[in-house]
Amino acid sequence: MAFSRLYACDTCEAGEAVLTFAETWGADSSESAPSPYPGFGNVQGLFSMLWCRTCRAVRPCILLRLQPPAAHAVVAYAEAQRQGLTGYEAGVCQECQGALIASGEGEPCPVCAIGTLRLIGEWEDAA
Ligand SMILES: [Zn+2]
Ligand SMILES: [Zn+2]
Repeated sequence: MAFSRLYACDTCEAGEAVLTFAETWGADSSESAPSPYPGFGNVQGLFSMLWCRTCRAVRPCILLRLQPPAAHAVVAYAEAQRQGLTGYEAGVCQECQGALIASGEGEPCPVCAIGTLRLIGEWEDAA
């Protein structure tokens, strides 16, 4: 089950960032732009949407690759557990090769650049 965190700018109305951890991705999505997958057949692995400080944007990061792909999302989460993955692992930005971090707290707003992003909500998506 993936979980998400919403960060919003403390100054402007428009600035926000949604980080997602341990979402499944499937056969139709590429590794550079994985997209959430409903969970039946051809589950390729797990990915997260993390914060890139250099880009000041949310970027995808592959957390787990299944070889071969699995029939159900449960297999991906079981494998992640076996490997000791929490979903909060940091990664590398495919755009700038900078570090991706698992939190947007205290980061500069991508819209107004004056404000600071603050955590305002957290939720879990059913896999
Ligand atoms: Zn702002
Ligand atoms: Zn970047």
